[in-house]
Amino acid sequence: MKIRVLGSAAGGGFPQWNCNCRNCTGVRGGTLRAHARTQSSIAVRAHDPTGGTHGGGRSASWALVNASPDILTQLRANPDFQPARSARDTAICAIVLVDGQVDHTTGLYMLRESTRPWALWCTDTVCADLELRHPIFQVLSHFCGIERRRVALDGSGFAVEGVPGVRWQALPVAGKPAPYSPNREVPLADYATPGTQELVESLEPLVHDHNAILMANHGVVTYGEDLLTAYMRMETVEHFAKIALTTHMLGKQNVLSPERVAQLTEIRKKIENAKISSLRKQEF
Ligand SMILES: [Zn+2]
Repeated sequence: MKIRVLGSAAGGGFPQWNCNCRNCTGVRGGTLRAHARTQSSIAVRAHDPTGGTHGGGRSASWALVNASPDILTQLRANPDFQPARSARDTAICAIVLVDGQVDHTTGLYMLRESTRPWALWCTDTVCADLELRHPIFQVLSHFCGIERRRVALDGSGFAVEGVPGVRWQALPVAGKPAPYSPNREVPLADYATPGTQELVESLEPLVHDHNAILMANHGVVTYGEDLLTAYMRMETVEHFAKIALTTHMLGKQNVLSPERVAQLTEIRKKIENAKISSLRKQEF
């Protein structure tokens, strides 16, 4: 198997366009001995240096793991990804997504001129995020479209078409889902010392999109239009935590599908909006 690192920077790349930290300023001005880096992505293919019929040689087929916003730059930096066998061509035969984050999916927009639908591998939760919350699949359906392939998290491996001889297996790892994911309704803020500005800063990026936040190794904070709303949200989080703990101890959780959760979220929004408008009427 051959792995090629296409990009190794975190979200935003290095230097990040609006960042004036010491490192970004230094690499921009040439005063820091560092390489500019594009956003994280790798490509994988079968190892066949003889260029035989098993995916080696100039026309080797690569599976792209994550389509970063820098994909066009990354393709230009790797000329063998353009084997030029026909008027429109690419050595990328399939795409595997490790999550549904912007940094790993935006490149799909740039790959929309494909002459055939992209074979696209992802888990059910990532698929739901990209259908319901960040409707990139819907947008792509107006261009090349995708043929979704399911990545299971039960340890069963899979094989990516066009990349023979490589067995893939997905391992669930702890991480934050994308901010628009319904699986991130109660986010976890990084640990910070209680009572400090550091704690405020750990919560700040999460405040706009949520109404309850878990604070790592600390506790939970909720808020709302009034004290009662904030209090009820705290009750909800604690009630949910008890259910989660109990089901964890029992060893089985029947989790609703992201589609079902999205339906419930819609209903909640409607109820909240109705409540707010009736409160406003009472004020006048
Ligand atoms: Zn920076």
